[in-house]
Amino acid sequence: MSGRLEGRKILITGAGSGIGRETARLFAREGAKLALLDRDAAEAEKTAKETGGSFHQIDVTDEAKVAQVVGEAADALGGIDGVLNSAGILTMKTMDDIGVEEFRRVVDVNLTGTFLVCHAALPWLRKEPKAAIVNIASAQALLPSLTGSAYAAAKAGVMMFSKSIAKELAPDVRVNVICPGATETPMTDQGVAADDVAGRKALADIYAMKRLAQPHEIANGILFLMSEEASAVTGVALPIDNGRTFH
Ligand code: NAD
Repeated sequence: MSGRLEGRKILITGAGSGIGRETARLFAREGAKLALLDRDAAEAEKTAKETGGSFHQIDVTDEAKVAQVVGEAADALGGIDGVLNSAGILTMKTMDDIGVEEFRRVVDVNLTGTFLVCHAALPWLRKEPKAAIVNIASAQALLPSLTGSAYAAAKAGVMMFSKSIAKELAPDVRVNVICPGATETPMTDQGVAADDVAGRKALADIYAMKRLAQPHEIANGILFLMSEEASAVTGVALPIDNGRTFH
């Protein structure tokens, strides 16, 4: 099947790396026009070159900049009928180690950033018949790890914020969440280096399928929720986590 996003106008945050970039590639193959947002302008530009989209530098925690850039993205796309919030940062620090500044930053980027982008895109989404938001939480929103309480709390916030606005925005805008387990991206490398064989095995072992996900496996779920195949789906948090949260 192809053309599942033909004619769609979709904004992606975190488009310069990992899941955001892989989803941009898939969305472009499925016919969407894309606006690609990231803190790292050079990486967003690379994704834009690959996918034919526009790119925009943004820090999703900066309210004024988010409003400005979402407006520019809407101009580039001719409106917005899809938003994917993939920008995020990870910490696995313990409560003893994290400190309030880093705690606030983790909540700010993952949760407040998601709110700001959704909020800024709403006026455009509300004009569109196929409007959909997909936010990226984490399997840790459903089942915490031994450490990383700030991240788990922020991602649980993303999940419940999304479910809550799914109710508020229905029937105009569908809102769904993906809860990925550990996925082969630079974010995971930052936690456990790709060449740390023992560390990677220990990480894989917490999953029923004993492996990490690939970014395209997350992107496929995002595509479903963004597309009209999910026209009756809203308020869902879909784990794509190699079976971590069911067992
Ligand atoms: P990644 O680090 O590869 O990509 C994240 C992107 O977000 C980067 O391009 C980064 O520049 C951008 N970003 C970070 N802070 C930003 C900010 N303040 N403003 C704008 N852009 C910002 O990570 P990924 O693995 O692709 O993660 C994508 C999403 O999936 C994140 O929300 C992450 O928390 C979530 N997630 C990832 C995993 C995993 O194992 N990789 C698991 C569960 C959830």
